[in-house]
Order: sequence, then structure tokens, then C-alpha cells
Amino acid sequence: MSQEVLPKFSAKSYEFATYVTAKNWIGGAWRDAASGATIAVENPRHGKKIGNVVMSGTADVDAAVKAAEVAFKTWRATPVKERGEVFYRLKYLMQRDMEELSWLVSHENGKTFAEAKAEVEKGIECVEFGASLPNIAAGEQLDVSRGVNCRIDHEPLGVVAGIAPFNFPIMVPLWMMPQAIVGGNAFILKPSEQVPFGGVKLAALLKEAGLPDGVFNVVNGGPETVNALCDHPSIKAIAFVGSTKIAKHVYTRGAGTGKVMLCLGGAKNHLMVVPDADVNLTAQNVSASFTGCAGQRCMAASVLLAVGPVDHVVDAIVKEASKIEVGKDLGAIINKPSVERITGYIEQAEKLGAKVVLDGRKKTGGPEGHWVGPTVLDNVSTEMPAATQEIFGPVLSIIRTKTLDEAIAIENANAYGNAACIYTTSGAVADYVTERVEAGMVGVNVGVPVPREPFGFGGWNDSKFGTGNITGMDGFRFWTRPRKVTTKWALQKDTTWMG
Ligand code: NAD
Repeated sequence: MSQEVLPKFSAKSYEFATYVTAKNWIGGAWRDAASGATIAVENPRHGKKIGNVVMSGTADVDAAVKAAEVAFKTWRATPVKERGEVFYRLKYLMQRDMEELSWLVSHENGKTFAEAKAEVEKGIECVEFGASLPNIAAGEQLDVSRGVNCRIDHEPLGVVAGIAPFNFPIMVPLWMMPQAIVGGNAFILKPSEQVPFGGVKLAALLKEAGLPDGVFNVVNGGPETVNALCDHPSIKAIAFVGSTKIAKHVYTRGAGTGKVMLCLGGAKNHLMVVPDADVNLTAQNVSASFTGCAGQRCMAASVLLAVGPVDHVVDAIVKEASKIEVGKDLGAIINKPSVERITGYIEQAEKLGAKVVLDGRKKTGGPEGHWVGPTVLDNVSTEMPAATQEIFGPVLSIIRTKTLDEAIAIENANAYGNAACIYTTSGAVADYVTERVEAGMVGVNVGVPVPREPFGFGGWNDSKFGTGNITGMDGFRFWTRPRKVTTKWALQKDTTWMG
């Protein structure tokens, strides 16, 4: 790794800063795309170019696969304990570089430093889980008949790939890569072309942590790169995280070439509030849920189903959200078209009869960049696009209902199924809702109900294509295949059909 091509991530403030070109990391070397193509990467906070990213095609994906295939031969034969130790070292290196990593995420993604740091910390939890796998992922064995033993070995798949979205440049790759690599696979990461530096920095840290060259590779680029990964005959599995439209496309294309696929898509999370809800807890929690990461997270609150006489709770939510300072507490929107999409939904809802009780359209966190402040739309009706489509910005659409069953029916009718939440002080109400919502992750008084390891992260319906979850033990199962071994070492007198 020569010094000139090492990425530099030294900026430690919200000030404008430049990085270098995010190259591909293949077989332990930084490489340009074969075509020489690059595009600009911008800092959403300033709207200015901070660097470039190479745009890879089939030849680059093929080069990464070849490097990974070579590395896989040795890596699969490396004891699982040694594979896990790399992640102990990665954890230490991420903690050492915590500030730098957090600024990097803040610069390329636009989220606040505090949110970026929280992302890195969550990424470290995923690394810890990977490091713990040698202790918890032992195969099972049983004497199934007299003198006959069955056991299950978790075998790696081979060369596998992960495709990430823009909103968590460090955490989402770490949802995938520790389990895949500790499981014995060689991994190719395709970061979002809008935020390529997180993946590049992870490559540098894994090298420093002692991971052999070719076990982790980064291929930067966009749709062409993704399609080349889906089509490559030697890639055995792909995990994808992004929007529903692309998740469906990637799932179908990858499965068409026989790969094991798990594709997480978008979301439209419904939060329900009933009159007995704790006002302060609910106000603080709902406000944080729809404004955190400027609403650009798949677990964000999007629709508030206000059941019965809950004006006091709604007022408290609006009051809480109006205290949020754009730029300081709330980060930037990834790009200009996204700002236009978000404000378009607000304008359309207003025209269709919704009341804009908190308007973030004119709010800005600086003289330049891409911003939308917290926005609350009341009296939204079920057929408005603001009620049914993913806005992916700091916008809360309130739908009023008379009964809890009406609220549950609205939640059930939405195509997505990532998360749902109920705010109540009644255990019976909480159970009633939990048992009936069409969502893979449910919160009771928790607005961002992300399951922590060893539990797995994953939604239902149009929020996920494939089976299982992406994190926790499910992730390990996704990246490995069980080999069932049946053994018998001596002839038994009283044999059964199996003996
Ligand atoms: P996106 O779908 O636009 O991009 C995701 C990845 O797909 C990127 O790497 C991108 O390069 C690639 N891609 C984009 N267009 C493509 C195409 N036409 N063909 C092939 N590949 C293509 O998503 P995004 O805008 O980066 O991220 C935001 C979306 O991700 C939101 O919908 C959000 O809900 C979702 N998301 C979901 C989860 C989850 O766990 N379910 C987590 C984070 C984000």
C-alpha cells in the first residue's frame, strides 16, 4: 500500500474539507477503475465537492473476485478463532480512530458529528459480535442412533458481496462483513457512490488489523457495478441494503444466477399513540425518531397514528421538534434532488388538505448545502402520497383515527413492514398492537426499535426480500452453509435402519 494512494481523513470539524479519490481496494492494493471513470463526491453540508470516487465495471468486479478467490483458499482453512481475532483488533483500531471516523461519516453523509459517532459506535457493536462468533457459533452434534453421530459444521460459501446505501457508510458494511469474514468467506464491498470513504477507511483499518490481502475488497461504483456483482458466476451470496425498488431488482437479478440473496429495502414506519401514553417520553421519542439522521434512516418514524383524544401528545411532539436547531442538532439531506423530493411531498400534502403545523422548508443549517428542518403534517389522509410513500426526510405525517383497530388496519395496509411502534402505559394495549402489526421490528415506547446483537435486524413485506435477518446469528447463518456429517466408527450389534 503506497503512501500516495492512502486515503487521508484528517478533517476534524464541520468546516469544508477535501479528501482524495476513493479507489478500489483489490487484493491488498489501491486501484483505479479499468475504464478510468470517476465521479465527484460532495459534502451535503456545503454542497461542495470533497473528492472523487472511481466507477467500476465488469472488469473491476472480475479482478476483485479473482483476488478474493485466491485469498479464500487460505482464509477458509484459517482457524475460526484466528479469523475472529482480526475483529478484536479492528475494534481497537476503530476506537483509536473514533473521532476521525465520525468526522469522515459526517463529512460524506452530512449527519451531525454526534449522529456519526453513534453510527461508528453501533458499527463497533457489530464488530464485537463478529469477534465473539468463535465462542458462540460452535456447530451442533448429537448421537442420533446407537454408535451413530450427526454433527453440523458451518462452512463458508466462498466469495460473497455486500452492497450498501448512503445513509450509514460505516454501520451497514459492518452489519454484513464481520459475520461473513469470520465465517470464512472472502468479501467484496460495494459502498454507495455517494459515501465511498467509509468503506475505503474500513479497508485500511482491516489491513492494519492483520486481515490477509484479498479477504476484504472494495469495489466502488454505481448501478453498473451492482449489476456486475449480481451477474458474476463466482459470487455465491449477496446482501443488499437500500431502497425497495433496487432491492427487488438486485434480489431478482442475483437469484437468477443462483446466488443466495438477502435484500433489505425501504420503509414507512407507523407509530401509534393512545391517550394514556406518557406525554414526555412520547414527545421526546417521536421527535427524535422522525428527525434523527434528518429522517434518512429506514427506522425513522414516518406516520403517527393519533388514536382518539391525543391533542396533548401531538402538541408536545410539535413543541419538542420545534426546539431542534437545523445544522447543529439536525444534519443535512444527502443531495439537492432529495431536498426537492421531500419538499415536494410537503407541498403536495398541503395542497391535498393536510395542515403544516411545523414547517421545515425554509430552515437551513448554513449558507450552502442541502437542508430541510423538522416538519409535521397534521390531518393527513390515508390516500395521500405523504401517508403511503417513503419520504426519507424529517417529516412526520399525522393521521387521526377514532379507534386502535382503525390505526392497526392503516398500518397493515401499507406495503412496507420494517418497524412499527405503540406509545402506551398499558401492557394489554402494547400486546394487542404488537400481535397485530405487519412489521418485522416492533417498539413499545421505543421509536427506533433496532434489535441489538445477537438479535437480527430485518423487516417484513416490501422492506425485505429473502429470508432471515441481516445482523446477529441470522447474519452468520446467511453467510455460511450447514454441512451435516454422520459418522459411525464401530459395528453395533443392535443396529437400527440408520446404523
Ligand atoms: P439506493 O437503493 O438508491 O442505493 C443502494 C445501493 O444500490 C447503492 O450502492 C447504489 O449504488 C445501488 N443502486 C442504485 N441504483 C441502482 C440501480 N438502478 N441498479 C443497481 N444498483 C443501484 O438507496 P440509497 O438512496 O442509497 O439509500 C436509501 C434507501 O435505503 C432508503 O429507501 C432506505 O429506507 C433504505 N435503507 C434500508 C435499510 C434497511 O435496513 N431496510 C437500511 C438503510 C437504508
